[in-house]
Amino acid sequence: MSKVYLIGAGPGDLGLFTLKGKQIMETADVVIYDYLAHPDLLGFCREDAEILYVGKKGGDHTLPQDKINELIIAKAKEGKVVARLKGGDPYVFGRGGEEAEELVAAGLTFEVVPGVTAGVAAAAYAGIPVTHRAFTPSVCFITGHEDPTKEQSTHHWEAYAKSASTLVFYMGVKNLPDICAKLISAGRPADEPVALVYRGTSCRQRSFVSTLQDAPAEAKRLKFAAPSIIVVGGVCSLRDKLGWFEKRPLLGQGVVVTRAREQASDFATVLEDLGACVLEFPTIAVKPLPEYAEVRTAVENLGDYGWVIFTSTNGVDHFWRILKDMGRDARVFGGCSVAAIGPATADSLRERGIEPDFVPPKYVAESVVEGLLARGVQGKKVLIPRAKVAREVLP
Ligand code: SAH
Repeated sequence: MSKVYLIGAGPGDLGLFTLKGKQIMETADVVIYDYLAHPDLLGFCREDAEILYVGKKGGDHTLPQDKINELIIAKAKEGKVVARLKGGDPYVFGRGGEEAEELVAAGLTFEVVPGVTAGVAAAAYAGIPVTHRAFTPSVCFITGHEDPTKEQSTHHWEAYAKSASTLVFYMGVKNLPDICAKLISAGRPADEPVALVYRGTSCRQRSFVSTLQDAPAEAKRLKFAAPSIIVVGGVCSLRDKLGWFEKRPLLGQGVVVTRAREQASDFATVLEDLGACVLEFPTIAVKPLPEYAEVRTAVENLGDYGWVIFTSTNGVDHFWRILKDMGRDARVFGGCSVAAIGPATADSLRERGIEPDFVPPKYVAESVVEGLLARGVQGKKVLIPRAKVAREVLP
């Protein structure tokens, strides 16, 4: 059964993507996406999914809207499940409504998966609640994209100015001077707080608070560009008190993680939580050797050994793979003591039923040596299953 899902990709932080969106991405035959919130979203796709970029970044339209509509319809008519991914929420300035109408007209079934919209999320990450009982009873999402030279504006500037609403402008940075001037001339106070949030919820987030009168000059001075939201209203004054995301110590710092692919993600997540913009670029891969005759012999004779020292979780993984191949298990360690170089290696052993006899206070070879000497290794056979390229301290 073909079906089209209009899915909100959220504002930038991968963690703000919905569970439902992820589930659909994991099964879709075709994924059609815009200028995306987070590139890692594509990692959820099926290995054999057809992934199509249809662009839209400022003026650079990779495919015009009618061609996008045609593409979605054509793929659905091939009987495919199509995930149509859009930044933020598909129905908030995302032209999702137009795409849905086209789908109905083509007789296709569709569902909408709302996303976290930038106007709410970027503001929240900057420390601005878009409603707050002490400031405003309402919030208004407004396009800032309207051509200022257009004769008949569809905006009701007087109504915006009179209302007590927080005003959130999308696509408005270029028109910021015009937006501020129109609000002031329609009656909003010139000293009313205004905030801009650039790339909210991402590691590139920046924001500032100013006033209707000064915000255009400030935005220029601080070089604010799209994509940014503009928030107008008293709630912006809370930013200094409630801001949290921009306090992350590594915010905006680029970090390349060169660890092996399987081990990079955990480390990347820790750095991302501290605000870093992480690029995973594995420069090593951990692979099995072509043969393990020596290791097998050692396993057969493990009874002769006094100690086995594991120096990494990789060493543990591969050792157990060989044990398994040999039809053996943790019982081979019955007669000997086991050391782990540090807590991660120790946990890896515990997962396999071995409580290490020794974990040194410092997670380096010198500290292992010290500890083993104190425990008496003289005259004992010691097995060190580890990478060939390593320091000679332990041997
Ligand atoms: N459907 C999207 C909005 C698309 S319109 C949503 O619901 O969020 C594109 C505009 O959204 C941008 O010009 C900018 O004003 C705003 N925007 C999108 N992502 C943003 C982000 N991470 N930070 C700040 N503004 C963002």
